[in-house]
Amino acid sequence: MRDIELKELSLAERDKKHLWHPLTQHKLSPEMLPIKKASGCLLTDDNGKNYIDAISSWYTAVYGHCNKFITSRVAEQMQNLDQVVFSGFTHEPAIKLSEELVRILPEGQQKLFFNDNGSTATEIGIKMALQYHHNLGNDRKVMLAFEEGFHGDTFGAMSVSGLSVYNGAFEDHFIKVKRIPVPTGENNQELIEILNRIISENSIAGFIYEPLVQGAAAMKFHDPSGLNEILRVCTENDIIKVADEVMTGFGKTGTFFASDQIEEKPDVVCMSKALTAGLLPMGLTSCSKKIYDAFYSDDIAKGLFHGHTYTANPLACTAALAAVELLVSEEMQENIQRISHLNTEFCEKLKDHSKVKNIRSKGVIMAFELDVKMERYGNLRNQLFKFFMDKGVFLRPLGNTIYIVPPYIISNEEIERVYSVIEDSLAAF
Ligand SMILES: *Cc1c(COP(=O)(O)O)cnc(C)c1O
Repeated sequence: MRDIELKELSLAERDKKHLWHPLTQHKLSPEMLPIKKASGCLLTDDNGKNYIDAISSWYTAVYGHCNKFITSRVAEQMQNLDQVVFSGFTHEPAIKLSEELVRILPEGQQKLFFNDNGSTATEIGIKMALQYHHNLGNDRKVMLAFEEGFHGDTFGAMSVSGLSVYNGAFEDHFIKVKRIPVPTGENNQELIEILNRIISENSIAGFIYEPLVQGAAAMKFHDPSGLNEILRVCTENDIIKVADEVMTGFGKTGTFFASDQIEEKPDVVCMSKALTAGLLPMGLTSCSKKIYDAFYSDDIAKGLFHGHTYTANPLACTAALAAVELLVSEEMQENIQRISHLNTEFCEKLKDHSKVKNIRSKGVIMAFELDVKMERYGNLRNQLFKFFMDKGVFLRPLGNTIYIVPPYIISNEEIERVYSVIEDSLAAF
C-alpha cells in the first residue's frame, strides 16, 4: 500500500494490518486504542481524551509517566554509553545500581544477575534453584509453587505458573512442578502437613512464590504468617526460596519489597516491572552468597551459562538507578503512605456495600470482587473496562475483580476521581 493511502486510515485500522498484540484473541477483540502521550498519571489517546492510569501501566510507571528526573538521566547516559557486551566488560550504571539495590533488597541478597523482563527474571530464579542442587550433586529436579501463581510466559515460568488455562499447547514440555494452595490462616497447619508430605515424596529443588499478593490471580492476598511457616520448612530442607517480586517489588505493598514483611528471607529475588519505572525493559534476579558460592568453582561447567544480548543495558540501568533514588526519597515514601491510607479509608467506606466482596488493600494495591450476577452482563469484565474508560479511568478488571495499583505520584484529586468512578460502577452494574 502506498504511503498516501495509509495516511487516510486511522491508527487503529493501520494497527490491524501487521500487528499481533499480546494476550489477545484478535478475532474476538475490539480495535486497539491508540495512545499518543503519557505524562504523570495520565494517558492521552489520539482524540485527545485523557485517562487516569490507575494500574501504572501494568505496575511499571509508579513514579509517573515520562518522569523528567528519570528521562533526563537516561538522555544524559545516552550521550556517553548506549550498549556494551556485559560479558568481559562492565560499566558504572550497572555497578552503581547493584550498590544501591543491595541496600534496599531483602536481607542477605548479595549478587545481581541481569536479564530482560519478568519472565526471564523468574526463569533464571528457577535455573538458579535447579543448578544450585545440580552443582552440589543433589538429585533434585522438582519445583514447588503456589496454585494460581503467575510467573511469566517463557517455558520455565509457564511451568511454575498455576494459571494455565491458555497454556494447553505447551503443557507436555513443562518442567516438573508440585503445587500447594496459598495459606489462608485457617489452612496453615494442614498446609504444612501437605508440604511435608510433598517434600518427603519428591526431590524439591526450589519454591517459587509471589510474596503476599498474587497479581495475575486477581490481586489475591494470602496469610503472611502462613507464608513464613512455609518458607521456614523450605529453609530447613534446603529448598531454594525464590521470591517473585516482579509485581510486588519497589514499594507497592508499602515496604520496598513484600518480603520485608516476612521474617523468613528469600534466597533469590526476581524483579522487573517498576524496576525501570516503565521507561525501558529490564529484569533482575538477585541471590544470596550461598547461591552464588554454589556456582563459584574451578569447574567452568558450574557457572550460570545464561546470557541475553542486552544484559545490563546501560540505559536501562540508568533508569533503574534514578528510579531507586526516587523510591527511597522521603517524598515518595510519604506518597506511598498517603495512598495506603486513602485506600484503607476507601475499603472502610465500601466494606458493607451489598455488591462489594472481600475488599482489601496493602500499600498502594486495593482490590475487591464485584458481587453481581455475571450472566446478567454477558462479559462483565469487558463491560466494566469500557465503563471505566468512558469515564476517563484506565483500569483492567480481572473477571469480576476490580483493582487499582496507582502511580505513587497520583494526586488526591486524581485518586478520589478513581474511587468515585469505581463507586459509580457499583450503582451501574
Ligand atoms: C508480570 C509478571 C511476570 C512476568 O513479567 P513479564 O515482564 O511480563 O515477562 C512474572 N511474575 C509476576 C509476579 C508478574 O506480575
